[in-house]
Amino acid sequence: GLSRLKGVHYIENNADLEKQVVYRHSMLDDLRKAFLQQQFFILLQPKVRLTDDRLVGFESLVRWRKTDGSVVAPGDFIPLAEASGLIGKLDNQVLRLTCEAVKYLNAHDIYAPVSFNACSSELMNSSYIMNLTQIIREYDVDPRYLELEVTESQAAPEYQRISGALEGIMALGMDVSIDDFGTGYSSLAHITDLKATTLKIDRTFVTRLNTSHEHNYVIDMILDLGNQLGFKVIAEGVETEEQKQQLLQKGCQYGQGYLFAKPLTLDEAVLFSSVHAK
Ligand code: C2E
Ligand code: MG
Ligand code: MG
Ligand code: MG
Repeated sequence: GLSRLKGVHYIENNADLEKQVVYRHSMLDDLRKAFLQQQFFILLQPKVRLTDDRLVGFESLVRWRKTDGSVVAPGDFIPLAEASGLIGKLDNQVLRLTCEAVKYLNAHDIYAPVSFNACSSELMNSSYIMNLTQIIREYDVDPRYLELEVTESQAAPEYQRISGALEGIMALGMDVSIDDFGTGYSSLAHITDLKATTLKIDRTFVTRLNTSHEHNYVIDMILDLGNQLGFKVIAEGVETEEQKQQLLQKGCQYGQGYLFAKPLTLDEAVLFSSVHAK
């Protein structure tokens, strides 16, 4: 129902409810048309090694350019895409755009892996791996330049099926990251079951590094866990030099965030690569 949509926290009265329903319907209409009109595009956000700011990869982040030219961020349409069953189609589109990006980067002699986000609900789909394999073949990209970031979905996750899918994806030669680690499903109870190469520390912990001891401890714990269990660990949402230094002190090797770069266009990504080359 409506309450599942992010941003719709409470509804004050019936007139508001009606407005919300109408808004949601027209947005869903627009979203359906967006596929045909090819209104989705991706930006690439660099991931760097914290010791020297060298590029280690990119994350592909979807954007929706509507007919009126305005650009919508994923937080404002992914919940709707999920609730309306369009998320699989969307992630499929993003995978294709990501493959194109990898080809473009390779053509510019850049061989950094590009990750894309996938909802855990989609991974539970039995045809997911077959579809993934087909698209990788179709675009003729080397799977080692692709990486999957599994994000929490609103659907109740079935860990065994997700874990089985992740295992299959890694068998294709791709790395797997657990996104937004420390929040939601990616809890301690399940981490030993999930097959992955990397844990991404959620931005909320990085943001509150200074203000809360508890968040400090959570980061220490994730880094410790990563070390013990053999995961790489990357911190999301690094915005300040101070946060970077704190993360380095804690032994965090990788980071991503506005301090290094915002999500970039392909050409900006090529430029970034030449400045932050391996
Ligand atoms: P995420 O995968 O955790 O991606 C990181 C988000 O944090 C991105 O927001 C990025 O622009 C933002 N970010 C990165 N560095 C900083 C920083 O230093 N400060 C701040 N304040 N923000 C930073 P974006 O692009 O709006 O994406 C939001 C979320 O939407 C993503 O979170 C991801 O869960 C989801 N998403 C994005 N693209 C896709 C997609 O193609 N498919 C699916 N299923 N989800 C996607
Ligand atoms: Mg992500
Ligand atoms: Mg993330
Ligand atoms: Mg996040």
